[in-house]
Amino acid sequence: MTASTPAHDPNCIFCKIIAKQIPSRTVYEDDELYAFHDIHPWAPVHFLLIPKLHIPSMAQLDASHTALLGRMMALVPKLALQEGCNPYPDGGFRLVCNTGAEGGQEVQHLHFHVMGGPRPWLRG
Ligand code: 5GP
Ligand code: ZN
Repeated sequence: MTASTPAHDPNCIFCKIIAKQIPSRTVYEDDELYAFHDIHPWAPVHFLLIPKLHIPSMAQLDASHTALLGRMMALVPKLALQEGCNPYPDGGFRLVCNTGAEGGQEVQHLHFHVMGGPRPWLRG
């Protein structure tokens, strides 16, 4: 975290979800991370994994975030199976991290989309 990156942004919808000011359906929570079901799922399984630290996007990541991102990555397959994704290789999941306007990012708080389950999906 730097002076230009506050731990929480009072105007950020995902910071409000972490603070339980906006309700969400929890998938996982620990001191650093929170996961919850996407409100508009594209797939039978579709949840978002976010750091509790307000990082706007992947564009702000630096070496200080390596351990945090490693924890997020390592958690994805565990939570995917927990939430009903079928096992690899016939099942699996899609991991998406939209970054910036041209990357299709709408919420400016770093998040991984984890999507899976039987096809067809609504999108993606
Ligand atoms: P982005 O386009 O930024 O990658 O994705 C943002 C995602 O957040 C979208 O899939 C959208 O459905 C989801 N989302 C936006 N607002 C809320 C909310 O208030 N609650 C939940 N659970 N998901 C949200
Ligand atoms: Zn935030």
